[in-house]
Amino acid sequence: MPAKKILVVEDEPDIRKLVQYHLAQERYKVLEAEDGENALKLIQREQPNLVVLDLMLPGLSGQEICRILRSKPDTATLPILMLTAKAGEADKVLGLETGADDYLTKPFSPRELVARVKAILRRAELRTTAEGKESYHNGPLRIDFATYEVLIADKTVRLTLKEFDLLRFLVQNPNRVLTRDQLLDRVWGGETFVTPRTVDVHVRRLRKAIEKDDRKPKWILTVRGVGYKFDEKAVE
Ligand code: CA
Repeated sequence: MPAKKILVVEDEPDIRKLVQYHLAQERYKVLEAEDGENALKLIQREQPNLVVLDLMLPGLSGQEICRILRSKPDTATLPILMLTAKAGEADKVLGLETGADDYLTKPFSPRELVARVKAILRRAELRTTAEGKESYHNGPLRIDFATYEVLIADKTVRLTLKEFDLLRFLVQNPNRVLTRDQLLDRVWGGETFVTPRTVDVHVRRLRKAIEKDDRKPKWILTVRGVGYKFDEKAVE
């Protein structure tokens, strides 16, 4: 697999070099830009897999760059990790409202940066895989990922978008114990006001919608103290 390309947009040379160094250590191909104009040119030419974007830049701000990228079809889903200088909540919310996938407050540890980058890339990859497969069919359960249609024994099941996303992640990772944190990360990734309880509430609703007897679930099993497991055999 060719190395993933990451563009670092940061006007402070020391921070830019630090980020560049640690990402290069992880064998990413790292591109650098010191302002928004150069960043936009590089993004068009090099099509990076992810952008590490400083919020406070001379000229176009990180927020404006984010907005421009999100408004164009070819960069609408380009993963963005925002760097902010202030620890204030406002900055954090700002980063997410603008459409960044995640944010880091300066000063950050390089290890944390690398971990965030990996998590975002993993989510992006999963999205692509999910888009690649158009449907799931097992026993009475049929899911169309393109039309969001779920059928059980030819009867339509109504789910909310989050319940659908949760079901999709479960069926794409069958027979594996998935922790609440993993589910939060993959289904709710980047969203702020969610807790492990959110997962439980959605699992309960999903069971009600798809299980024969939601008090004795057979498909989505609880793994006590850990999380949940989708039992593919039970569906067959
Ligand atoms: Ca800056």
